[in-house]
Amino acid sequence: MSQEPVMSESLYIGECPVCHHGRQVVRKLRGKEGFIIRCEECESEWASPAMASDASAAVLGRYDSDRLANRDDLKGHSWVEYVVNWDEL
Ligand SMILES: [Zn+2]
Repeated sequence: MSQEPVMSESLYIGECPVCHHGRQVVRKLRGKEGFIIRCEECESEWASPAMASDASAAVLGRYDSDRLANRDDLKGHSWVEYVVNWDEL
């Protein structure tokens, strides 16, 4: 489970269709460019926001993500339009 305490700062795109409990947060991939979506509760993962509303497209443990993506990471990225709390904070 995540050891990152300040979940309110997570950039997220919606509610998880698998567990219906966690938020789907944007995470930065380790050691390379790019991001994934991961549920902060059940850890379901998606390769992109476009497929993240589909529970059957979720995978577990496929991606080696590094940390929560922040605003600097995502600035100008096409995923910004999916982030529901982009204008908050
Ligand atoms: Zn979930």
